[in-house]
Amino acid sequence: MKQAGEQGTLYVISAPSGAGKTSLVGEMLRKDPGLGVSISHTTRPMREGEQDGVNYHFVSRDEFEAMIARGDFLEHADVFGNYYGTSQVWVRETLATGQDVILEIDWQGAEQVRRLIPECVGIFIVPPSAAVLRERLVGRGTDAPEVIERRLAEAAEECRHAVEFDYLVVNDDFDQALGELLSIVRSQRLRMDVQKLRHAQLLAGLAGGL
Ligand code: 5GP
Repeated sequence: MKQAGEQGTLYVISAPSGAGKTSLVGEMLRKDPGLGVSISHTTRPMREGEQDGVNYHFVSRDEFEAMIARGDFLEHADVFGNYYGTSQVWVRETLATGQDVILEIDWQGAEQVRRLIPECVGIFIVPPSAAVLRERLVGRGTDAPEVIERRLAEAAEECRHAVEFDYLVVNDDFDQALGELLSIVRSQRLRMDVQKLRHAQLLAGLAGGL
């Protein structure tokens, strides 16, 4: 249990598309009630099966630019021609309640967050091989070759930033990758800087003589 006044931990999770990041994060949220995910704003069109306010807050470019001007974003970036951004207020207020927060963002956003909140924990997820990633991105073969090539180039660009993160998780077996992500979260909660506040009384009592 978190103590009153204790800040949650901010996790920044990035991956090339096709690494399974969204499914893994969805499962992390189901398994760990102490985690919440930030719902980004984006100007990209809604895809089939997506819902406004669930997958993203879908806004126009004008609305997004007004939000930038107001300083509403903790970070924002142009990712493949569309704007994406993370709400500053939601993240800061949620962390202040002691809840841990996940940001599913690209490397450009991760760079900005690292500068603003250096104690954030960065996790990069990769597929088990370039061949598997290619297979996943090429998909059912219904996309034009130039679309596929663009996706592959974007994935390679994202992967070039993997070493900037604190942890690397390889998603070969889904359950194993999920277990690894959850153990990063658990070990973070056991860090001495966190635990010594949470268990201050216990430590003082033990140190006071048995
Ligand atoms: P998609 O459009 O496929 O959902 O996401 C495309 C890319 O945008 C992914 O790499 C995703 O991580 C990134 N993205 C999603 N939300 C944000 C955000 O709020 N900020 C940044 N910088 N990137 C984001």
